[in-house]
Order: sequence, then structure tokens, then C-alpha cells
Amino acid sequence: MTDTDLQRITAAVRDVPDFPKPGILFKDITPVLADPALFRLVIDEMAALARARNVDKIVGIDARGFIFAGAVCDRIGVGFVPVRKKGKLPWTTESATYDLEYGSAEIQIHRDAILPGERVLLVDDLLATGGTSAAAVDLVRRLHGDVVGAVFFAELSFLPGRAVLEGIDVVSLLSF
Ligand code: AMP
Repeated sequence: MTDTDLQRITAAVRDVPDFPKPGILFKDITPVLADPALFRLVIDEMAALARARNVDKIVGIDARGFIFAGAVCDRIGVGFVPVRKKGKLPWTTESATYDLEYGSAEIQIHRDAILPGERVLLVDDLLATGGTSAAAVDLVRRLHGDVVGAVFFAELSFLPGRAVLEGIDVVSLLSF
């Protein structure tokens, strides 16, 4: 991807102050998704990263991670696995609880979604504190999957997400 491409994509991300609560600057990616040329550039880049890591499965994180992960899976011909918020997956699940700013959250994966030894790439829209991704890593490892990396559309580099994912190969296309 060229610097100009990166600049166009960065410019399309919309800052929404005080959403979903006061003090949060929300990175709204919908203008990037709505522009077919920009969305394709993003998927091209993520697909190249996934291909280079020779992955068997891509785990997309509920909900915006699904958009990127699904497209990349189709592009490179690997299986898609959803990690979902508690209570959404119908089959037998493995669960992980993690801390949020206030309280906690729980995410789940189907127990048969990853085979032992499969090479798994995590994909999500944005790395913030890293809590969600770290819990997703935990789930994949409990199924004996090999987490070969995590790819994000963007990261908030002033938060400790990368440190929380220490030991994992983390790549983000944009950094704010
Ligand atoms: P975290 O667990 O803190 O890394 O948060 C990751 C999830 O929260 C991602 O799936 C993002 O979709 C969402 N998120 C957190 N902070 C923001 C933000 N400032 N703008 C947009 N999405 C965010």
C-alpha cells in the first residue's frame, strides 16, 4: 500500500467525540467500508499479511472484526471463525471473561471451531486496551490453536494494547 493510499484511508476515518460515552473519541470506520476502493485496499493489505503467515483459520471478533475477517477469508480461501459476545453462539462454547473500564465482559468461541495445531490469525477493527483480543487469544489457545498473529485495521497507540498482547505478532494498518 502506498503512503497516498494510507493517507486516503486515514482521512476517511471519522472521529466522533463522546461516543458511546463522554471522554471517548470513537473511530468511526463506516466511511472506509462504504468506499469500495478504500475497502478493497484494506482487504488487499490484510489478505497479504494473512497469506504470508500461512494461516488455517481466521478468527474475527464481534462485531466489526467480522467485516474484515470474512472478506479476507474469502480472498485467501481459509475458514472463518467468529468470537462472539456471550449468549450468541448456539453450540457448545468456551468462554473468557475480561475487564472493561467499568465491570467485565464475556466472549465465546465454539469448542469445535479450531482444530489442535491449526495456525490462527486474529482480526479486528481496532486495538484499544487489548482486553478483547487477549481474551480471544486465550480462547484459541484453550482449543490448542496456534495464534500466529493479530491484524487490526487500526490501533490506538496511546493505550497499552500492544503490551497486553506481548509475544503476539501484532500488525495494524493505521495508528492513531
Ligand atoms: P479493547 O478491548 O479495549 O482493545 O477494545 C477493542 C474493541 O472495542 C474493538 O473491537 C473496537 O471495536 C472497540 N473500540 C474500543 N475503543 C474504540 C474507539 N475509540 N473507537 C472505536 N472502537 C473502539
